[in-house]
Amino acid sequence: MGSQPEMHVVIVGGGIAGLATAIALRSPSRRITILERSRMVREVGALLSLQPNATKIVSKWGIDSFLAAAEPMPDRAFRMFNTDGELVREMNLDKKQFGADRVMYHRQDLSLSLKNAAVCPDLPGSPAEIRTSSQVVSVDCEGGIVTLESGETLRGDVIIGADGVHSAVRTAVLGEEQKAIPTGISAYRMLIPTEKLGNLSAPKKLLDPLDPSTTMVIGHDRRVIMGPGRGAKMYGIVALVPDEKMAETSSSDSWVEEGSIEKLREAYADFPAWLHEIFVAAPDIGLWQLRDIDPLPRWVRGRTILIGDAAHAMLPTQGQGASQSIEDAEALRAFLGASPAKEDVQAALERVFAARSERAGLIQKYSREQARPGTDAASKEVKLDPGQFMKYNCDYEGAADWEERQKRGEATV
Ligand SMILES: Cc1cc2nc3c(=O)[nH]c(=O)nc-3n(C[C@H](O)[C@H](O)[C@H](O)COP(=O)(O)OP(=O)(O)OC[C@H]3O[C@@H](n4cnc5c(N)ncnc54)[C@H](O)[C@@H]3O)c2cc1C
Repeated sequence: MGSQPEMHVVIVGGGIAGLATAIALRSPSRRITILERSRMVREVGALLSLQPNATKIVSKWGIDSFLAAAEPMPDRAFRMFNTDGELVREMNLDKKQFGADRVMYHRQDLSLSLKNAAVCPDLPGSPAEIRTSSQVVSVDCEGGIVTLESGETLRGDVIIGADGVHSAVRTAVLGEEQKAIPTGISAYRMLIPTEKLGNLSAPKKLLDPLDPSTTMVIGHDRRVIMGPGRGAKMYGIVALVPDEKMAETSSSDSWVEEGSIEKLREAYADFPAWLHEIFVAAPDIGLWQLRDIDPLPRWVRGRTILIGDAAHAMLPTQGQGASQSIEDAEALRAFLGASPAKEDVQAALERVFAARSERAGLIQKYSREQARPGTDAASKEVKLDPGQFMKYNCDYEGAADWEERQKRGEATV
């Protein structure tokens, strides 16, 4: 073998979870292959936040220059308004509170930065090889063998299932299919070039595309979340609608389905006119039905582990999906160590599950709780408090520290 890498890690899925793991596991003693079914040319056009629990982790990976290319925007405040435009809550997101910033990215930019860091030959450890158009159809979890749609097989010492909410690896790990559950909520998604928002009638406290903060406008079972990204060149909007109030059918799998402006406006008919002006400024509208999964009884079988949405898909109401994926990547790095003996792989993966699953499961549950209507049907009094779980979510210093807290009984709300 000489100086050849000894351990082969096969990652199924090149989303944020898979790419982050390829960076976290870089080591001269490991060879990393990512198998991605798409051609990785199109990422969903939407903003995404990394929460302080995740930005703390990535700041230790030596990839700041890659992330800087993604034009990160630290988010300074979260403000919540009722449909009369009255401020009902304000949360300061100052770095001092949680030890790191909450940072907004364009999904495409973050994915590209992570991909560039994963394959860069100049960073320490071996760069990952990414094989696109490589759909995995089955996994022998104990044997460490993945089979591609083409019939080709690959053998890995560790197999990481980062293949998202409709994971094929999950079926292999659980021994049965556990389908993603429609949550009864769909999301319209818009990205508007900032210059198109210049002359709208929205009060500045509600729409200031240059102000690095997140604004939520909430009325009963609908809410709009908006804020700037990509160096304030784009303004991102997500409008949640209960499925029964949808005037169109949002489907299943696709994160890139088109929505209709007329149907969106119908669903938000009782929201203020200035909000409709913002909707109308959007060049196009995406629509997708939000799905999550119940906490899984296991993430590990043999030398295979699930991470990211494959392990704990959650509603986006706390913006923790990508951040939890980054926590998974860090836990793998912490417990796989420099390079465990091949016979110790399963124990290391079980340690990841033990440190991570309860926490990820609670965050899934909190995300469902945060999806409940924010007011009673007939009232404008907002009951929802987005800060309710922030301390639990963000006060995180990595899997080894969490394991210690678990032993001391301190890993609680
Ligand atoms: C409306 C909305 C807003 C969100 N906002 C935020 C936010 O602000 N902050 C946040 O942290 N999270 C947010 N999320 C969630 C976040 O995007 C995901 O949790 C996160 O991207 C998890 O990534 P993943 O890599 O596990 O899955 P995915 O991003 O789904 O990646 C899985 C990858 O695996 C590939 N794949 C699938 N099957 C196979 C196969 N059989 N073989 C090979 N490859 C395969 C797919 O092509 C894909 O590239 C949001 C989600 C939604 C729906």
